[in-house]
Amino acid sequence: MIATSRRNLILSAALAGAGTALGLDKSLAIVAPAAPVRRQQTPDPKPGYLRYKIGDAECTAIYDGIWEKAHDPKYFGNATVAEIKQALADAGLTTAFVPIPITVFVIKLNGKLILCDSGGGDQVQAFNPESIFVSGKMMANMKAAGIDPKKIETVLVSHFHPDHIFGLLEKKTNAPVFPNAEIIVPAAEYKWWTDPSLTARLPEWRRPLARRIQTVIPNWKNVLQVEGEDEVVPGIRFVSAPGHTPGHTAFHVSSGNAQLMISNDAAYLPALSFGHPGWHGAFDQNAELAEASRRTLLDRVIADQMMICGSHFPWPGLAKIARDGAGYALTTVHTT
Ligand SMILES: [Zn+2]
Repeated sequence: MIATSRRNLILSAALAGAGTALGLDKSLAIVAPAAPVRRQQTPDPKPGYLRYKIGDAECTAIYDGIWEKAHDPKYFGNATVAEIKQALADAGLTTAFVPIPITVFVIKLNGKLILCDSGGGDQVQAFNPESIFVSGKMMANMKAAGIDPKKIETVLVSHFHPDHIFGLLEKKTNAPVFPNAEIIVPAAEYKWWTDPSLTARLPEWRRPLARRIQTVIPNWKNVLQVEGEDEVVPGIRFVSAPGHTPGHTAFHVSSGNAQLMISNDAAYLPALSFGHPGWHGAFDQNAELAEASRRTLLDRVIADQMMICGSHFPWPGLAKIARDGAGYALTTVHTT
């Protein structure tokens, strides 16, 4: 359990249809230039959940959506678009775009029901008209899996990026989606995003995120900051993995001899970050620190023979990993 002294309770604590049918009378002879219609290419998994056991822990992977990201030469500082396409092809994935699925996890363990991250809540922009960002399927898929969202007692947050926390906020009102759950966040992440001086230091495109976090989260009374690597609920421990963001955290689940590392964004897309752990992505705030955290985490998973899953692993995301030359190889584990 968390040592009380280390817990710090926070007291204050579309894509629009691009191809709009104009319905014009042809006699008007007005032809609007056809905007390219960009629609989701990747079929949703059916069902959008998968349940498996890690010891006595009942884990349910829940599909939230997918970011089909247009290729961008700035995506990695030290890998070309051609190299990225090759890595995707090697993993058997499309090379038309970078497929970035979003999965959240519900764990039932020791009598508690815990949600690990909350997806994008249908509130994440793709930033680029050639990309598409679909999210917010978590709730429907959770219900399809027989899980009542009102029964979630604890929400663990890995970091404050939109695809991990916007599912905690109602779309138009910012009202809490899980008002009765305890929301446990890494203290380093909370402190960084709620620093009043942060907004001015961020690039323009990141400022709305910081403003939203600062306007909403500190007013919630059910947010608990945890320092370091405490056991945050019985059987689940925070594992510090900074770099992607300053307080980015993985979740370690253990039950009996079975262990699962929920790596969140420490290993990002296995197709890119496992075979090439030294590639430095624009999505990592401190790419060198992120690489060190990635290697430390993956080496530990191998040494301790854990299972691993991540927020953006290929659905359903449960895997084993091994060393493979200078990198790592992933084997997806299929359960029934
Ligand atoms: Zn993410």
